[in-house]
Formats: sequence, structure tokens, C-alpha cells
Amino acid sequence: MLKTTELTHLLISHIIKEGSRVVDATAGNGYDTFFLSNLVGETGKVFSYDIQEVAINNTKLLNKNQTNIEYFLKSHEFIDQTNLDLVLFNLGFLPNGDKSITTVKESTINAISNLINSYEQNPNLHIFIVVYPGHANGQLESDTLLAFTKNLDKRLLVTTYIPHNQNNAPYLITINKKQKTASNN
Ligand code: SAM
Repeated sequence: MLKTTELTHLLISHIIKEGSRVVDATAGNGYDTFFLSNLVGETGKVFSYDIQEVAINNTKLLNKNQTNIEYFLKSHEFIDQTNLDLVLFNLGFLPNGDKSITTVKESTINAISNLINSYEQNPNLHIFIVVYPGHANGQLESDTLLAFTKNLDKRLLVTTYIPHNQNNAPYLITINKKQKTASNN
């Protein structure tokens, strides 16, 4: 089976088209930004956020030939919400970096709440969250996220993709607005 990050990219590649405006909410070493940049093409845009300078620099280096990326050295709590199609959070700490600097439940929930409040202006927004419960802080973040997303407005669809018989494996949460159909409107 696919790893959670591979599954995440596969699902995103079915949703996001050339010309889309997307956010990498946790730039890290730039792999997700690179993937998104290729997907949205020359007519699209990627907005890449991280709180660590080293992460933004790594992301810039990996993406030095990509021309459709804007970088922001700031928390994903301050994402510019203009006309967005997708926001991807790949939580946790920077691989090969300082493991004490990690996403934390308070700012993660703030960022996701802000995005949910923007559904009026971004009705087609998809939120993807890759969660890592395998370290202490990640476990706390995971518990908080599962409780928070479980109680979201039923007009939103929250789906979890969880390796069912594994201990603390990375998993995916997606959030999107339900499309109106004859049966549910
Ligand atoms: N997407 C990355 C990639 O493809 O390499 C991996 C991301 S890494 C698992 C998580 C990143 O989240 C770290 O670089 C960390 O600095 C960043 N981060 C932590 N808190 C953040 C926040 N509040 N806003 C934005 N980035 C944050």
C-alpha cells in the first residue's frame, strides 16, 4: 500500500489542476512545495509558509528552478486566504532539523479554524492535514485534531485515512465543503 504522504499526493493530484492557487502550510525541506508547484503549473501559484528560516532556505534551494512560488517566513496562522483551492499541512518537525521545533496544537487549530471561517470566500477549498502521532507532541496534536474535526459543521466533510492496525502511524485528515446534490441539499 501507499505511504500516507504518497496517498496524500495521489489524492491531491486528482483534485488540483493547472492554474490552481495552493498553500504549503509547512514548507520544511520543500518536497511538498515542489510537488504542488509542478501540479499547478505556470498559470498557478504556490504560497509556501514556515516559521524556520532554514526550512524556507531549504525549500527555496530545492525549488530554485520553479517560478510560481512565493515564500513566507511566518506561521500558517497568518495565511493569506485570497482565492485558495487547497492548503496542505504536513505536521511535525523538520526532518534532519531541530526536532524541538514542531507544529503545536494551538497554532495548528488556529490556522485550520481561520481556513474554515474562509469557506464563504473559498467554497472549493480543500484542507489536507498529514498527522504524526508517533512523538509526544504529535500525539497531543493528533488527539486535539481528531476531537476538533469530529465536531465540525456537518456541511463540511471530514475524512480520515488511518492505518487501522498500526501503532501511532502517520495518517491523513481531509476537510472540504460537501457538494450539493439532489439528495442532500
Ligand atoms: N512539507 C515539508 C516537506 O515537504 O519537506 C515537511 C514539513 S515538516 C514535517 C514540518 C515543518 O513545519 C517544519 O519545517 C516546521 O518548522 C514547520 N512549522 C512548525 N510550526 C509551524 C507554523 N506555526 N507555521 C508554519 N510552519 C510551521
